[in-house]
Amino acid sequence: MATYLVCGGAGYIGSHMCKRLHEAGHEVVVCDDLSTGHAGALLWGKHEFGSIEDANFLRTLFSKYAFDGVLHFAALSLVAESMRHPQRYYQHNVAATLNLLGVMREFEVKKFVFSSTAAVFGEPQSRLIAEDHPTAPMNPYGLSKLMVEQILRDSCRAYGIRAVSLRYFNAAGADPSGLIGEAHDPETHLIPKLVRKAAGEDIVVAINGTDYATEDGTCVRDYVHVNDLADAHLRALEHLDYAVGMHTFNLGSGRGYSVREVVDAVREVSGEPIDIPTTSRRPGDPSHLVASGKHAKAVLGWAPRYTAMGAIIETALNWHSSATFRAWMAEKEAVATAGARADQHSAQG
Ligand code: UDP
Repeated sequence: MATYLVCGGAGYIGSHMCKRLHEAGHEVVVCDDLSTGHAGALLWGKHEFGSIEDANFLRTLFSKYAFDGVLHFAALSLVAESMRHPQRYYQHNVAATLNLLGVMREFEVKKFVFSSTAAVFGEPQSRLIAEDHPTAPMNPYGLSKLMVEQILRDSCRAYGIRAVSLRYFNAAGADPSGLIGEAHDPETHLIPKLVRKAAGEDIVVAINGTDYATEDGTCVRDYVHVNDLADAHLRALEHLDYAVGMHTFNLGSGRGYSVREVVDAVREVSGEPIDIPTTSRRPGDPSHLVASGKHAKAVLGWAPRYTAMGAIIETALNWHSSATFRAWMAEKEAVATAGARADQHSAQG
């Protein structure tokens, strides 16, 4: 049994990780300021409220617990937002991660698992993207993650930390228990938007661009179930028990789905003939991102268990139709409304 700090453990992938770590018998400490995460997701381990931007908060945390390693999910992750607010992305995704790594060094915590992304690659030069594919991010989000990968590589060499960077392709789905899932406000991701529409929500969703150089003209992505991602993290932690240095893995299934194929799959699984119009391209989107999962399979013994798009969508539909999902969203809205009222009062006062 080990004790792990999960930064961003109240968020979508982080909360699934907490559940997985708990099931594997580990102690979990979540550090989350609930800026985007949900209090309702804090079901496993202890919660320490605070931000990785705050080095003193981190020092207090590292003094209180003897961590065997850190899993870092606390990041901004929206391509379009990163195009509009690049400094926000570099501040939170790069500068705050440096803070965290600095405090890890002070406390001699050596194991680090980092949430990276397929957005580090940019427009692909081959059908399947392997780890050594050239990196040329098309947006500040991808570049912020690539910068941290470089910082990790240098830090492993200079300070003897051991790190794994996991480049997620498209995380999707929810834990079948119905206890946790994706709950963003506003939601920008394709599958949750479609599924919420199919579940009857009044949500605007259109196909972003139909003129890409792909078979049906829409973007192709490699969707991976969130529990498969959590499983890869657990294997990465085990790998770091004996592997030194920095290791990078692409986490995908090797099978791409176009936006139109995903729309059709949601129609099929939900039984709802949802009407999805088309619109122009979303800036910063590469046409095609599909992983070669060979390296993760060979080294970590990892491969996704959810191999059918329909099975992934089913778990998402189950979650987004649930009372728990609606309760989380209502709570977030109440907090936002209370915050806006307090701002108004202080502006008037
Ligand atoms: N997408 C879309 N309509 C939407 C949301 C997303 O057509 O309402 C497209 C998006 O442009 C991309 C793909 O779906 O080509 C996956 O986008 P998502 O935001 O889910 O994940 P990302 O690839 O940005 O990580």
